[in-house]
Amino acid sequence: MNILILGSGGREHTLAHKISQSADCKKLFVAPGNAGTLLCATNIDLDILNFEDVANSVKKYEIDMLIVGPEAPLVEGIKDYFDTKEEFSGLKIIGPSKRGALLEGSKERAKEFMKSHQVPTAAYQSFNKEALEAGKEFLKTMKPPYVLKADGLAGGKGVLILEDLIEAQDELENMLTNNKFGKASEKVVIEEFLSGIELSVFVLTDGKNYLTLPNAKDYKRIGEADTGLNTGGMGAISPVPFADKAFMRKVDEKIVKPSIDGLHKEDIDFTGFLFIGLMKVGDEPFVVEYNVRMGDPETEVVIPRIKNDLLDVLSKTAEGKIKDVKLKFASDYAATVMLVSGGYPEAYEKGKVISGLDKVDENPEVFICHAGTKKVNDQFLTNGGRVIAVTASANSLENALEKAYSNAERISFSEMYYRKDLGKDLV
Ligand code: ATP
Repeated sequence: MNILILGSGGREHTLAHKISQSADCKKLFVAPGNAGTLLCATNIDLDILNFEDVANSVKKYEIDMLIVGPEAPLVEGIKDYFDTKEEFSGLKIIGPSKRGALLEGSKERAKEFMKSHQVPTAAYQSFNKEALEAGKEFLKTMKPPYVLKADGLAGGKGVLILEDLIEAQDELENMLTNNKFGKASEKVVIEEFLSGIELSVFVLTDGKNYLTLPNAKDYKRIGEADTGLNTGGMGAISPVPFADKAFMRKVDEKIVKPSIDGLHKEDIDFTGFLFIGLMKVGDEPFVVEYNVRMGDPETEVVIPRIKNDLLDVLSKTAEGKIKDVKLKFASDYAATVMLVSGGYPEAYEKGKVISGLDKVDENPEVFICHAGTKKVNDQFLTNGGRVIAVTASANSLENALEKAYSNAERISFSEMYYRKDLGKDLV
């Protein structure tokens, strides 16, 4: 089978690495890819939001399966684009339709979906510009902290959590009338604050049946002890020690099953990954968000723990035969540590030489996953904020973290930074 993966981050490198080991993988392409995907696939330089260009590559390289890594092409309707063209009727696509992707593309839609399918989530109301005063009044009825969410995609920055009522009312006005997050904040969801601990659950579905993948916890803040600005993710671990069997049963019954049944009832074409961001409040799970693709860096710790042939699993999913798959997971723990450019998530420089990649352990328990990297001549250079995710597996979380950190220490580039406290709250 010839496969094309769209995206250029650690998620795509991890997927490419795993799929390259599949018996049925003939030719593997990643667009645009990074210096890591070059090690296991062929990179194609194209704009993944230009569907015509993607279609030309699908034809040129005789692609049998298209895997969409990030959310933007899905929200823009890449699945629908291919579905409407007869010549691509045999193409297997991993990624939901535009209607499915709206669960991530619109927070108001996601909340409505949860409400109509009785999926536990924080109480909420949404407001547009015309309803600004009603929004301010609604805030008065809420208890602090106040949670304001831009309805649309805002690169992980569209959520404000504020202690002060006046500040929350001012920010609501900024979002609705002063375009604080551009088009994304033309509508704002105001919701109840959930106090608990977060984790992520990943589901692969054909829109009717589903497989639950290993759970994970990521670390979003730049600073140690979860301080400072939000990032795309500074590291992750899997499985999550506090998500025991009884809790995960609850997640399945109260969250996953009603969510997938909801997709089916609403006749939403959804073939792909559903990422469910959860808050564990006491012993109860509540949905914070849906994403319609795998997370990054969670992919780096989830995918290596799946023992099956991933391409075979994805093929069956695309054929609507996910029921035939029995997943097997490694019983060990995985941890990933993200090495980032100095200054990230604010301004940072690119083009720094990365050294020490040849000093890391060479065994299947350690994987150097490239995110923002590029190869120029024989050198690996930094090419983004998040540069490399060092992933390690071991028989305990403590050992997995220790191994990930000891390998991370051998890699360096000018102004490299990483959090040194990942997973410490859980061991
Ligand atoms: P991401 O960066 O994951 O894409 P996002 O912008 O899609 O995030 P959410 O995931 O909805 O937005 O919220 C971002 C973060 O804000 C959550 O991970 C969580 O830490 C916090 N958060 C969101 N909603 C709530 C809530 N109701 N109560 C408490 N914290 C919340």
